[in-house]
Amino acid sequence: CGVFGVFGHPDAANLSYYGLHALQHRGEESCGICTSDDGTFHYHRGMGLVKEVFDRDRLESLKGKQAIGHVRYSTSGSSHLGNAQPLVFKYRGGDLAVCTNGNLVNEPIIRKELEESGSIFQTTSDTEVIAHLIARSSKDLVEAVKDAFLRLIGGFAFLIQTKDYLIAACDPQGLRPMVMGRLGEAYIFSSESCALETIGAEFVRDVQPGELLVLDKDGLREDRFAPMERRAMCSMEYIYFARPDSDIYGANLHSTRKRMGQILAQESFVDADIVTGVPDSSISAAIGYAEQTGIPYELGLIKNKYTGRTFIQPSQELREKGVKMKLSAVRKVVEGKRVVMIDDSIVRGTTSLRIVNMLREAGALEVHVRITSPPFMNPCYYGIDTPNPADLIASSKSVEEIRQAINADSLYFLTERGLRDAVGIYPDEYANGLCMACFNNDYPTPVRFEDAKLTSCS
Ligand code: 5GP
Ligand code: SF4
Ligand code: MG
Repeated sequence: CGVFGVFGHPDAANLSYYGLHALQHRGEESCGICTSDDGTFHYHRGMGLVKEVFDRDRLESLKGKQAIGHVRYSTSGSSHLGNAQPLVFKYRGGDLAVCTNGNLVNEPIIRKELEESGSIFQTTSDTEVIAHLIARSSKDLVEAVKDAFLRLIGGFAFLIQTKDYLIAACDPQGLRPMVMGRLGEAYIFSSESCALETIGAEFVRDVQPGELLVLDKDGLREDRFAPMERRAMCSMEYIYFARPDSDIYGANLHSTRKRMGQILAQESFVDADIVTGVPDSSISAAIGYAEQTGIPYELGLIKNKYTGRTFIQPSQELREKGVKMKLSAVRKVVEGKRVVMIDDSIVRGTTSLRIVNMLREAGALEVHVRITSPPFMNPCYYGIDTPNPADLIASSKSVEEIRQAINADSLYFLTERGLRDAVGIYPDEYANGLCMACFNNDYPTPVRFEDAKLTSCS
């Protein structure tokens, strides 16, 4: 998912619209904006894309200088309006709006506790649990939020809005990204920096692990709810999720992916006629692979930009249909050629098989698959939607078996070392690392609770 917030700008709703539109790749299922007009809340949520859910009149009605907004990524079996955010609650005679990107591993435990002591829940979302924790505290809002966040285990980036405050926070490991920017006197928060560029805001900095940034009439207060622990930014953000024009902790995503391609070429050169990337996420890496090897980069695959990300459609059947709608091979480019095909990840393996076959049907002589991540073997507990572990092809098959399953002439996965070198940060440096748990099973938080929850909102 993606979150976006504005504090202190007369055009808060419009800015949120453009910001969320720039974050659309982080979720296409539903979206919403909630503004505060001196404490009167106006909000609208809907299913679908930002441009479908909001029109001029709707935005016009969202008055106020403060806003938080959300785009939601569809996760297994929960595609309905009730899951759209921001959620708005009654709080001490006013309103409280919350939206989040991520997943709380221990949410079921906290929910059970709250229910046992009388809370009644309307949704199944993590966000509501937070609201209850805050509402139960007798402390002032900021202290209540801090206490609530201290109880959370997982990966999350939160925006909270009340009449007087806008609060932004990231989990103590910094698993999910969020940046802060300025637009004139106004403050902006966004899951990714690309949205700052879109609205002409200036990038200020990444929100740090465990940090709590509070905006009120006195301006910005930089506080924290937890000490910074081992920083563990999600490596899938670098590999796949974030847009190539975004920066995370100073590293531009296009350049990082290009380095992944270069390192992949060093680790696994193969003699071929052309290099092609699976659009959009792997174009940068394919350019890097081509640059490193001297094999020309070609557009061997074209994406129809009017279809959504295939992962976003809930059922396997729809997903399989989606791949065909979405991608085609360029026959004149690949015919008679030995092709290196770069992709970012193999999860179930169905996408790779289809694309390899598509290239063969278009006349490719050989298809060599190079992946810019290590084999995806373990589920994510921090909000990136991953299938049931049994459906992760790398959890049960060797690289050679995967090669056969996807019908490739050769297959190679980037090493963990190569991934770290490409990103340029190391887990052994204090507070400066990557989460790679889905590749190496090294989760940066406890995850094995009796009823740990796998997926909420990536
Ligand atoms: P699969 O191997 O399951 O068929 O699909 C892998 C493909 O799905 C990759 O090409 C990747 O670009 C795309 N994809 C879409 N959403 C996600 C996601 O949330 N995580 C991962 N790892 N890949 C995704
Ligand atoms: Fe990202 Fe994988 Fe860690 Fe989940 S387990 S946060 S997908 S690196
Ligand atoms: Mg892809």
